[in-house]
Amino acid sequence: MQDPTPNGLAALEARLRQDLEWLELPGKPWVPRREAEGAPVTDVVIVGGGMCGLAAHAALRLMGIDNTRVLDRAPKGQEGPWVTYARMETLRSPKALAGPALGLPALTFRAWFTAQFGAEAWERLGKIPRGQWMEYLGWYRRVMAVPVENGVAATLLRPRADGLLAVETDAAGTILARRVVLASGRDGLGGRYVPEMAEGIDRRFWAHSRDAIDFAALRGKRVAVVGAGASAMDNAATALEAGCARLDLLVRRAKLPAINKFTGIGSQGVVHGFAALPDEWKWRFLHHALSEQTPPPRDSTLRVSRHPHAHLHLSCPVLGLEEADGALRVSTPEGVLEVDFIIFGTGFRVSLADRPELALVADQIRFWSDRFTPPDGLAQPELESSPDLAPDFAFQEKVPGACPALALIHCFNYPSTLSHGKLTGDIPAVSAGAQRLARAITRHFFVEDREAHFARLQDYATPELLGDEWPAAQMAGALA
Ligand SMILES: Cc1cc2nc3c(=O)[nH]c(=O)nc-3n(C[C@H](O)[C@H](O)[C@H](O)COP(=O)(O)OP(=O)(O)OC[C@H]3O[C@@H](n4cnc5c(N)ncnc54)[C@H](O)[C@@H]3O)c2cc1C
Repeated sequence: MQDPTPNGLAALEARLRQDLEWLELPGKPWVPRREAEGAPVTDVVIVGGGMCGLAAHAALRLMGIDNTRVLDRAPKGQEGPWVTYARMETLRSPKALAGPALGLPALTFRAWFTAQFGAEAWERLGKIPRGQWMEYLGWYRRVMAVPVENGVAATLLRPRADGLLAVETDAAGTILARRVVLASGRDGLGGRYVPEMAEGIDRRFWAHSRDAIDFAALRGKRVAVVGAGASAMDNAATALEAGCARLDLLVRRAKLPAINKFTGIGSQGVVHGFAALPDEWKWRFLHHALSEQTPPPRDSTLRVSRHPHAHLHLSCPVLGLEEADGALRVSTPEGVLEVDFIIFGTGFRVSLADRPELALVADQIRFWSDRFTPPDGLAQPELESSPDLAPDFAFQEKVPGACPALALIHCFNYPSTLSHGKLTGDIPAVSAGAQRLARAITRHFFVEDREAHFARLQDYATPELLGDEWPAAQMAGALA
């Protein structure tokens, strides 16, 4: 039942318009339009219309950069994980996070929710149902007028001799761009990570948690899930709720991680200070957080453990896989487990070979492993495969001068974390990330276009004084 107090979305949208007007936002467009070979040049092409792409677009537009395009290969309303491969009931994040609101109170999830359901419903709300988060992102896209072109994949970024990037797409031709923002998601520089031993096994026996999985087909089946993170737990819960006969959760660690370290120390200090840390300290922070691992959310864990036929196996890595008699034999330190299906909740990895859009520049991208030696005892493969990004999120060259176009490609997705802190992979600090990106791009465009701006300065000829401000009797000549 609806609370009597909500004013509805129309009123909220009116307030948002008012707030923007009072703040004189969006800033007036100021970037000179360009053409190349008679074709228009887009200032920024954003690859990905998920949360980060939406926030990046909105932040650029507030800065007065409006000649932008946003491409997403997913159909409208299915960008990102929320209603596709995410299988949790609610977000992990606290409901009150301002998320992508860019400092605008009327743009928060809370404002959106309260406008429709009222303040009492807000108090009653526990965590945000994931489908509702997607609805909110859809509203955000509409009210911030983000022109996402759905069903369009960026297939290749081609550096050009004239300093532009040609963004080849599968459904919108080739777009000439001054800069490209990769807001391509958790797996934006790679793809799923699956242990090699799975590669030879028939796909009817296994999936990764990011895959579309036919859970109804798992009814009555024996299912194993590998991993101890949120996705492993949520996939296990979904299999149980679909009626699997037995669920075995195989966890390499001796106990489930219980403390969410990096989130626990979250503050504006971390958000704005992390990027300024010396490299060794960046490494130490993230090495510690990754070693301790992020626990699965308590709700997700209880969603699994309440089923008596769900079994948790700790210190139980998968040692081998073998197809036999229409089933899968999973070797573990506890013995051989026979299952009908196994789901790998084993996360993602950086693997540029899996990203065809980066094929022409991949070899030149500098990673942390190219220039940083971890302190003794702190080696960490995931950190080593992080791109070594510039302060504006742009890639940098392995060999100086070998691929200047990398400075035009901004990596605004999860792998930026070691360089920038957690500004792209999660909800809490995405606004700070989008604003850092937008300000940096603003600086670039102004500096690059300095001649045009200087010419405007010289040409500007609208007088403020009209010549009639001083009566003739008060002019110096009158004294003489
Ligand atoms: C299952 C799951 C649950 C999560 N839950 C939470 C949570 O509760 N709280 C929290 O703070 N964070 C959570 N996160 C982390 C993070 O908030 C999400 O991953 C979020 O979706 C990141 O937004 P994004 O825009 O970077 O990526 P996405 O939302 O994944 O969007 C990327 C988009 O890029 C598009 N794309 C990729 N490549 C191309 C291409 N070449 N051309 C065109 N389009 C392309 C994709 O189609 C996709 O729509 C979760 C992540 C996952 C995977």
